[in-house]
Amino acid sequence: MFIAYRFRILAILLTVAFPPLRPMAQGAEQSTLKAALLSIRANDLKAHVNVLADDTFEGREAGSRGGRAAGGYLASHLQKAGLRGGGDAEGYFQQFGTHRNVLAVLEGSDPVLKNEFIILGAHYDHVGYGNARNSYGPTGYIHNGADDNASGTASLLELADAFASLPVPPKRSILFAFWDGEEAGLLGSKHWISRPTIPKDRIAFAFNIDMLGRLRNNRIEILGNRTSYGLRKMVSRHNQEIGLELDFTWEMTANSDHYTFASNNIPVLMPFTGLHEDYHRPSDDAEKINNAGMERVVRLLFLVSQEIAEVPDRFTFRANALRETPVLRQQFEKSQPAAPPRLGVSWKVRDPFDGLELTRVDRQSPADQAGLRVGDRIVNFAEAPITDENQFRIALLAARSPAHFGIVRVGETLPQTVSVPIVGQPIRLGVTWREDDAEPGTIFLTQVVNGSAAQQAGLRERDRVYEVGGRIFKNADEFRALITTLPTPIEMLIERNGRMSTVQLAVPPVATE
Ligand SMILES: [Zn+2]
Repeated sequence: MFIAYRFRILAILLTVAFPPLRPMAQGAEQSTLKAALLSIRANDLKAHVNVLADDTFEGREAGSRGGRAAGGYLASHLQKAGLRGGGDAEGYFQQFGTHRNVLAVLEGSDPVLKNEFIILGAHYDHVGYGNARNSYGPTGYIHNGADDNASGTASLLELADAFASLPVPPKRSILFAFWDGEEAGLLGSKHWISRPTIPKDRIAFAFNIDMLGRLRNNRIEILGNRTSYGLRKMVSRHNQEIGLELDFTWEMTANSDHYTFASNNIPVLMPFTGLHEDYHRPSDDAEKINNAGMERVVRLLFLVSQEIAEVPDRFTFRANALRETPVLRQQFEKSQPAAPPRLGVSWKVRDPFDGLELTRVDRQSPADQAGLRVGDRIVNFAEAPITDENQFRIALLAARSPAHFGIVRVGETLPQTVSVPIVGQPIRLGVTWREDDAEPGTIFLTQVVNGSAAQQAGLRERDRVYEVGGRIFKNADEFRALITTLPTPIEMLIERNGRMSTVQLAVPPVATE
């Protein structure tokens, strides 16, 4: 503690004395951040889980002997990390009845913003020996709760160490909160919010860490992502360094401590590696924890919480998040129905390439009405020979009606020109989209037309678009302006399940004949 504090003063003095060194100071900040990030390690997480989920703590039931022992373990670790107590009488505990929350504070480095707090919280209690209300059985055996929630508790200890190791703490202060009595009905977080150790209006954001130990298929849920604006984009940006698949669920129920804060109009985030067959059973044991997976999720949490503690403007609460559900999400994100095909044919490509031989002509389609038949070959389009079926698809979608085809009829060798009044409007990119008020300055795709430039570039429905041609946009109007004016190829930065990538769309010029 003493050494870290001296470094902090030195860093401040250097910044003040030599303003031109600012870029270097930022570089140094980057490297200390990186060091703190890398200090979060699977082996350390595993060591904490092994202690907390050991039989000696008897399942850490709130108010029990094992629960108290677990609280003692946490307090001594926080003291070693050099964090000051955030509980009663400046100690680490906030007592309520026979239960106690364990609290520690890292003071922020900005003279103004340090008055605001980020809460990083995890419940450390579990269900002891289990009973009919809190266990799926068999009851009467120690429920070690390695995933629920020794994993989150270990994660929070590692985060506390990582933040405490920074020579300059983040601008906002951080409250590290180990909640008791969660399994009995979110008792610890509810008690805290009714007797907050920090004025409630100074809580800028709350993280809840509950069950991070069972990463499977590289996939986690991010609960609370709609309780403020732009959280999905921000989490996805940090995830580039981590590479997880993120499910930005709309689930918001009172099933863990995040709900205590969300229902008090405080934005929240909660990563979650999901339920499993050992949930609330004696078999939720330490050897089943995916420690390497937990390391990755905790590192993502560190990056995200560090930014939230640092940004100049506080994230404001988005109240609609409390009314949203996964069912509403399905309705909101549902696909636009596909328009009828402009021509109405299927084909096969002859090898060597010799036009597109029709294998099906849809009844009543424009092709059918113009007299095209199975076996006919399309060899020219808009007076140019067809050399590539994918380019033809794009050109056909973009064409004005009537479109002119060079057709070699069955049994003939020379093409004849056939004009077909194709249906629908010319399509250049092949996407429809929608805005999402929770993510300003982004859109998501509600349709990707078959064969279009968008589909050929790999875009899919529900992809989120963050940039077009390297530019951000404010809303759907600006997005439309960009895609209609930029020349080909149009570059898009997209996000799918928290993974970002850049795609190039080979769009045709507007309305080719
Ligand atoms: Zn639980």
